[in-house]
Amino acid sequence: RNFEHAELRDIIRENVTKSGYTVPTPIQKVSIPVIAAGRDLMACAQTGSGKTAAFLVPILSKLLDDPQDLEFGKPQAVIVSPTRELAIQIFSEARKFAFESYLKISIVYGGTSFKHQNECITKGCHVLIATPGRLLDFVDRTFITFEDTRFVVLDEADRMLDMGFSESMRKFMNHQTMRPEHQTLMFSATFPEEIQRLAGEFLKSYVFVTI
Ligand code: AMP
Repeated sequence: RNFEHAELRDIIRENVTKSGYTVPTPIQKVSIPVIAAGRDLMACAQTGSGKTAAFLVPILSKLLDDPQDLEFGKPQAVIVSPTRELAIQIFSEARKFAFESYLKISIVYGGTSFKHQNECITKGCHVLIATPGRLLDFVDRTFITFEDTRFVVLDEADRMLDMGFSESMRKFMNHQTMRPEHQTLMFSATFPEEIQRLAGEFLKSYVFVTI
């Protein structure tokens, strides 16, 4: 089975192929149809399993399927990652897959000036990739709201937990502007009790996948 059979927009499929991905990895095989079908997902997968493309590819494809006007500070997909390094990797993969589409991708992370990271606010973005602390900063200042957010991804949720971000996660997941009908995807290398609890809080009748 290759990416030809997955229900994806042509441009996304072409970009995936151009990126050198011909055969989907196991996590991609399972996650892409689940996400495409609109289900919430809890996936236990390690770094190196291809989990980044497993969530990016169906999200970008679905955003193109059902285009919505872009508004400043109202990302349509929010991807939260524990570290700046991981956020940058996700960002560069997202840019490859969205190449030559109209989708705008932005990134915000801590440790650098606030000013240079306001692309999402000044131009609007479909996809925002963020570290949890900086995301909350923007949210607290009401520069970012979730009215238009259709997808939320918590990547490496166990690492976010270890780094002390569980309350930050709860704050944005329960934010007053978060739409009740958004689709939530959680990825974690391990599945300890606290991750199970967060999955229970954040996900609606989710599909559980372990690779
Ligand atoms: P990840 O687990 O998302 O960090 O991905 C690990 C590495 O595998 C990255 O360098 C990806 O570019 C690569 N990769 C992901 N999916 C595929 C695929 N289907 N075919 C070839 N390489 C892939």
